[in-house]
Amino acid sequence: MENLKNTLKVISFDVDGTLVDSEYNDLIWFKEIPELIAKKKKINFEKSVKYVSEEYTKLGEYNLNWYDINYWIAYFGLKVSPKKILEKYESQVKIFPEVIPLLEELKKNFILIVITAMPREFLVPKMKKLKKYFKFSFSALSDFKELKNSEIYSKISKTLNVCPEQILHIGDHWEFDYLSAQKAGMNAIYLDRSNTKKGKFIIHNLGEVKKIIEGINQ
Ligand SMILES: [Mg+2]
Repeated sequence: MENLKNTLKVISFDVDGTLVDSEYNDLIWFKEIPELIAKKKKINFEKSVKYVSEEYTKLGEYNLNWYDINYWIAYFGLKVSPKKILEKYESQVKIFPEVIPLLEELKKNFILIVITAMPREFLVPKMKKLKKYFKFSFSALSDFKELKNSEIYSKISKTLNVCPEQILHIGDHWEFDYLSAQKAGMNAIYLDRSNTKKGKFIIHNLGEVKKIIEGINQ
């Protein structure tokens, strides 16, 4: 009975906003980068934040470069290594409190993976305390040069040699996590930490994941 097509084998997690909060990213994009630019251009910090925010918005999250720290360092003409920036705030990475207990439980019965939109180097500081739980990690940008669209979810399921129906993906982006994974045939859960949407596969806290898994596996 174990090989039933609808038996879950793999649980996949988004990283930012799902396993770790966005504060670390915000420190990079809205503190460190504008600080470096303020110094370079000899403008004040507030002005610099306004400038970088406008530049980020202009490009937008549908452009791959938006996620790429190397792109922005070059774009703003900064002379700093991405590694140095990423390491600077490593101690500020905050894992949501429900994460470790959930992973401890899930690792007994499932293969756990992460799928992030961000470049691979962003995973390093965030996954320091988490990587032991995950068998594979995928970066849409570094591994596929794409956004988290349905094709990359299909490619990942092929890479793992597991049918999409046996994978459950959990993430906090309506389109890039929930709709894209669903379109690829996976089970998908939308994590809505702001508690505004309701539905069968919508949760507000990762603690609700186990109940949904039981439902899928029935
Ligand atoms: Mg996310």
